[in-house]
Amino acid sequence: MQPNDPTLRSFVDVDPASDFPIQNLPYGVFSTSGTSPRVGVAIGDLVLDLAAIEAEGLLDLGGAKNVFAQPSINAFMALGPKVWSSTRARISTLLRHDHAELRDNSALRQHALLPQKDVALHLPLVVAGFADFYSSKEHATNVGVMFRGKDNALQPNWLHMPIGYNGRASTVVVSGTKVPRPRGQLKPPNVDEPSFGPCKRLDFELELGVVIGQAAPMGGMLTEAQAEESIFGFTLLNDWSARDIQQWEYVPLGPFLGKSFATSISPWIVTREALEPFRVKGPVQDPAPLAYLQQKHAQNYDVQLAVDLKTETMQKPAGITRTNFKYMYWSSVQQLVHHASSGCAMNVGDLLGSGTISGPDKSERGSMLELSWGGAEPLDLGNGVQRSFLDDGDSLTMRGWCQGDGYRIGFGEVEGTILPSV
Ligand code: CA
Repeated sequence: MQPNDPTLRSFVDVDPASDFPIQNLPYGVFSTSGTSPRVGVAIGDLVLDLAAIEAEGLLDLGGAKNVFAQPSINAFMALGPKVWSSTRARISTLLRHDHAELRDNSALRQHALLPQKDVALHLPLVVAGFADFYSSKEHATNVGVMFRGKDNALQPNWLHMPIGYNGRASTVVVSGTKVPRPRGQLKPPNVDEPSFGPCKRLDFELELGVVIGQAAPMGGMLTEAQAEESIFGFTLLNDWSARDIQQWEYVPLGPFLGKSFATSISPWIVTREALEPFRVKGPVQDPAPLAYLQQKHAQNYDVQLAVDLKTETMQKPAGITRTNFKYMYWSSVQQLVHHASSGCAMNVGDLLGSGTISGPDKSERGSMLELSWGGAEPLDLGNGVQRSFLDDGDSLTMRGWCQGDGYRIGFGEVEGTILPSV
């Protein structure tokens, strides 16, 4: 049976509402008290320790050794898509309810299957480089209307290429990492001189991160098929944004410090293969992209997304947006093809941010900037709590999942809490 078969069952009990059924098997890096970080996959409420499974000789990694006894998945990704595929199929077999090898080896099971509540989850990859895109037409239009008016909402280049910028790999952090309020130069439109101080318009951006698992040489170009094969998987990504710093600094070279202070990702990387049953066509692209950006296959995915916000005074978080990754105008494949098209080399561990994911409806906006319409319409969180942007102590959580028939391929969550500026 194929690893994506919806009828597969594991000997590990998995709640139908769990993000991590046997059809998912996302990769992460974990440790238990006093042990070194190593690679595992999530199954239900447990983690399968792949370092232990590899040490037991149960995985064929084409002769490579100690692939999983490492604090990142980079060495595994470097082995390439054939090994990704065969390893996922093998792990699926080992976890099946009707396969005895691990199921009936109680010593190994005890040693290699650990409750997720007892492990610490770490940043799962060494991020080689980080680029962030701007590929939701709804988001770009909302921001454009606010900044330039309805008639000039989309810049003339927007419909011709996935617009992006190179961000900072150094401050990509895993879910749960606290985010200190950034500082920077501020010059609101109604003030004559800039000043330096804590950001007053701190925002989130709901995105997916694309993890690149294959290198591409300097000077080359990627086809649609090559780009697709290079994508190892996807994470949730919060591209924290300082709107006031961004607004003053972005002319003419784009975002710099307004985006580089923190980018949070979820700890589990959902493989491209696990998302295969949820592949959908993206929006019609009109005008047709230039030849190098044209794609023959459906390259979007139906991933449902939700964002919750909890302030220090709230007992429970409030849902502030619900949207879907399928709305993206430019696909991850087109972003990668475009990124490499100049001759830019790509590395194992490169991370691409999809760009803020907003949908057509007001309830589907992926940033506070859009939800509060630049602060003009503060969000009502109940009990008299309002927010236009994020305050110190606010906790922001993003979740994502593909809904199958009786199971879901989930991403877990990415959470971050704002600390006061130091
Ligand atoms: Ca962004």
